[in-house]
Amino acid sequence: LGQIKAPAGFESRTPPYEKLIDKLFKVKHILNNQPLTLAEKILYAHLVEPEELSGSASSRDIRGNKYLKLNPDRVAMQDASAQMALLQFMTCGMASTAVPASIHCDHLIVGKEGADVDLKSAIATNQEVFDFLQSCGEKYGIQFWGPGSGIIHQIVLENFSVPGLMMLGTDSHTPNAGGLGAIAIGVGGADAVDALTGTPWELKAPKVLGVKLTGRMNGWTSPKDVITHLAGILTVRGGTGYIVEYFGEGVESLSCTGMATICNMGAEIGATTSTFPMQEAHVRYLYATNRGPIADLAKSVNQNYQYMTADPGCEYDQIIEIDLSTLEPSVNGPFTPDLSTPISKLKETTKENEWPENITAGLIGSCTNSSYQDMSRAASIIRQAAKAGLKPKIPFFVTPGSEQIRATIERDGLISTFEENGAIVLANACGPCIGQWDRGETAPKDTNVIFTSFNRNFRARNDGNRNTMNFLTSPDIVTAMIYSGDMNFNPMKDSIQLENGETFKFAPPHGEELPSEGFVAGRKEFYPPLEPKPRPEVAVNVSPESDRLQLLEPFEPWDGRELQTRVLIKVEGKCTTDHISAAGVWLKYKGHLENISYNTLIGAQNKETGEVNVAYDFDGKPFGIPELMMKWKAENVPWCVVAEHNYGEGSAREHAALSPRFLGGKIILVKSFARIHETNLKKQGMLPLTFADENDYDRIGSTDLLTTVGLPDLVSKGGNNGGILKVKVTKRNGEEFVIDCKHTMSEDQVEFFKAGSAINYIGEQKKL
Ligand code: SF4
Repeated sequence: LGQIKAPAGFESRTPPYEKLIDKLFKVKHILNNQPLTLAEKILYAHLVEPEELSGSASSRDIRGNKYLKLNPDRVAMQDASAQMALLQFMTCGMASTAVPASIHCDHLIVGKEGADVDLKSAIATNQEVFDFLQSCGEKYGIQFWGPGSGIIHQIVLENFSVPGLMMLGTDSHTPNAGGLGAIAIGVGGADAVDALTGTPWELKAPKVLGVKLTGRMNGWTSPKDVITHLAGILTVRGGTGYIVEYFGEGVESLSCTGMATICNMGAEIGATTSTFPMQEAHVRYLYATNRGPIADLAKSVNQNYQYMTADPGCEYDQIIEIDLSTLEPSVNGPFTPDLSTPISKLKETTKENEWPENITAGLIGSCTNSSYQDMSRAASIIRQAAKAGLKPKIPFFVTPGSEQIRATIERDGLISTFEENGAIVLANACGPCIGQWDRGETAPKDTNVIFTSFNRNFRARNDGNRNTMNFLTSPDIVTAMIYSGDMNFNPMKDSIQLENGETFKFAPPHGEELPSEGFVAGRKEFYPPLEPKPRPEVAVNVSPESDRLQLLEPFEPWDGRELQTRVLIKVEGKCTTDHISAAGVWLKYKGHLENISYNTLIGAQNKETGEVNVAYDFDGKPFGIPELMMKWKAENVPWCVVAEHNYGEGSAREHAALSPRFLGGKIILVKSFARIHETNLKKQGMLPLTFADENDYDRIGSTDLLTTVGLPDLVSKGGNNGGILKVKVTKRNGEEFVIDCKHTMSEDQVEFFKAGSAINYIGEQKKL
């Protein structure tokens, strides 16, 4: 074991294999050499103390039950979430981060006229924030990837993801890195601070869902169709509590970037993360991205210790099989990524649902689908159309995922193919994927359809218009559809009438897995030093006058008594983090807790009245939801929110937990939580509870008083890793009843609750 050394010059980018294999051996010993899944191997190799698994009869007992304390290898943060992560990290008083970390400026760039103009405008608008992030990077030794350098997940794939790595990212599509054999998990800023400070990061051991891929991908089918099809099977909740692990001979026909697309959208089924066993495609990609020595080391580690592959005979908690040979492209949407329609059924489904037939825009790229393979396949479709004399019927936008991709497709003539055929190439940034899309004066105000190769399609996600129906599909299908602009068109079998009276039919797209002449880096100014050193002398300035950044004040610790809270609103139906903490125009206040809190739950629907963003005070007077929260906070009325299933699904947006806490919220009581959001609430010192009997949701109304029964006892017992907490409900008419609620508080999370937040607790520990 003593010989597994990181190659020179790659130290911070190589997982500590020697230590990881040592821990894996210990775990294997504890579990009597039971066969393990790949996900278990990588997770357990990152345990702070492998001995914590002692006493477990089998690995199946651990999954879904035991809380694991883990030491991730790396952290990545995007500019919107990095602000709060770093503001929290600063309060801990450390001189540098405990693990390598990177900051990526990608979310704050509006897509409108094209890369150069949009980038200049974004820098001018967000200078203060970029300066803050850069100075934090310099001070603490965090790599700073500035605006225009690319999208976090693409840059992580090109530079940091490696088979067997475990990393956290402050973005819900962090699992993209699983395409290169890592376990990469999307978290909130407070979780990132755990890793940044070297505090063990806690995760309830996920179950493992095996997806067996058989056959070979061919024709119009692309990796995107694996995950859009799977989303249709599993729905947005089907992956909750699971790591999705792919296996089977079908994996061998996938490119590394294709695997990344599949892992990226695992977030859409609620999975903790997704991953692939080490493949030759990984080695090819590592070589192509100038990491040959890491590829060689990873290969030998895997050959000697089988660390990056599942053990033969390992058991999955569930298995789904997908035959790639017969898989058809899917179109998923609108408004939810799990509404999956095979392209051959799109015409009839459009008619049945009375969806508009006209498509108003096509967009490809983003972190999900901007690989060289994606771009070269899209260009092959455009070339066919151009040769036949066809012009796109609708606006078409291309978002490269990184400067490396942009520069390479420019060198290879793909950008000119796109632009000569009417496309607007946007900056290497998130842009239209996250509401940063200015469609100009011609923007449709009403219901309209767009086709994108992105990963999310909640209402208002792209252009801020709640009626824009975003259909998610492969870049191939998006590109072909721009030539028809018609939902009834199936590019696999329909023809387009040409002006000369002839008809034209697309041949299946073709592309190259990797550029035959290698990648080119592009403009030097977009690349930070690979091994930054902390510079304690750098000052991080936050002006008290700023409306973008605000230093944090610690939340109050728990007072040791039962919580007494009033129901501020009973929310109906879907309540994603977009509903709880809207993005779009609010993104600019990510670093200013007070200002961003004016968006709290403005997308939520009131169950009792059907209204959106309306809650009622004790005297029946209506308020906007955040306004009532502020009023009750000023009046010292602690409050809670009651809601339905999968509360907080969507992005790993910690403001969805920070803002309610800041505005005086104490309890969130729901039918079920999205995992990341539940954890985020605990990190901010709130008490997340779920109904033991869902019917109790119907018995509670706004302004009811909810009082915990036995909270001090629960806290004194360290949470017991979950159980029942009783809650007394007192109606306005004096009627009282007690309901059973479930909590999932672990020992550490109880400490966060007591201290007022995880950051308070970590700060206390660092001072000891
Ligand atoms: Fe950016 Fe969209 Fe990817 Fe999120 S999903 S990182 S917003 S491109």
